[in-house]
Amino acid sequence: AKSGGRRGERFFTSEMEAQLESRRALEADLRKAIHSEEFELHYQPLYDMAERRICGFEALLRWNHPTRGRIAPMEFIPLAEEVGLIVEIGRWVLRRACLDAATWPDGIKVAVNVSAIQFTSGDLMDDVSKALALSQLSPGRLEIEITESVLMENRDEVLPILHALRQRGIRISMDDFGTGYSSLSYLSSFPFDKIKIDKSFVNDIVDNKEAFAIMRAIILLGDALGMRVTVEGVESEQQHDLLAQEACDEIQGYHISSPRPAFDVPQLLARSRPT
Ligand code: C2E
Ligand code: CA
Ligand code: CA
Ligand code: CA
Repeated sequence: AKSGGRRGERFFTSEMEAQLESRRALEADLRKAIHSEEFELHYQPLYDMAERRICGFEALLRWNHPTRGRIAPMEFIPLAEEVGLIVEIGRWVLRRACLDAATWPDGIKVAVNVSAIQFTSGDLMDDVSKALALSQLSPGRLEIEITESVLMENRDEVLPILHALRQRGIRISMDDFGTGYSSLSYLSSFPFDKIKIDKSFVNDIVDNKEAFAIMRAIILLGDALGMRVTVEGVESEQQHDLLAQEACDEIQGYHISSPRPAFDVPQLLARSRPT
């Protein structure tokens, strides 16, 4: 049993080494990616239910790796966060998103995802100010999306920055609402402008009464607290129609459009004008 254990250990170790090696390689590539212009923002429409047209876009980061092709954010953002590169990448995202949004019609907003580390080890306020100054984008057209974990882990550092951002007229959204285990308590500790209900809640609303009841209750909660309510991950006409009868302000999802390159934004806007 002893030798077997040792063999298992050795096997485990070499597998770990391989994993570490590929991580190191990815990290090295990630360090070069910004300057090699391998990052790209895609934009997914936020659709205003009352106006029946697109009112903004969420910026979603894409990495066009020279040999591995396009890498999804879930594969490199956690690593970028761990090694601190997310501060520099996030700065690039803010600048690119504001520059792009400044070319869109007035009133069309841009939403940018921000990681906890950008609050705690970077100077987010300074990054935002510089992006706005460079692009001449009005602060009211910028939304910052944060997840509950951002608040949970660093509340004392994060709250003052959120207040400062809001003071400048920038809007704050709570992303992936409902997935954390203490979402509700955060709603009263900070006045969010918007909650984005996580896509896991929309999946069954058409076929499952209970799922719909939960969705409905979350929408009513956000509405009662005076926040705009966005439902993410809307993929079908039936889901759209159900939500149209609720106090849901915006939807986002493949039903309206998948995330598209910046180049496609004018066409998406033209298509969404109510007739
Ligand atoms: P998120 O902020 O919740 O973004 C929404 C994700 O859902 C996007 O995945 C989007 O492509 C996907 N999605 C949109 N509509 C639908 C739909 O109808 N059905 C389904 N199943 N999925 C849909 P994506 O682009 O892969 O991004 C994943 C996550 O990576 C984002 O989740 C966000 O947390 C993070 N992320 C993306 N860009 C950035 C960034 O610039 N900075 C930071 N810190 N995080 C980012
Ligand atoms: Ca988001
Ligand atoms: Ca989300
Ligand atoms: Ca509302």
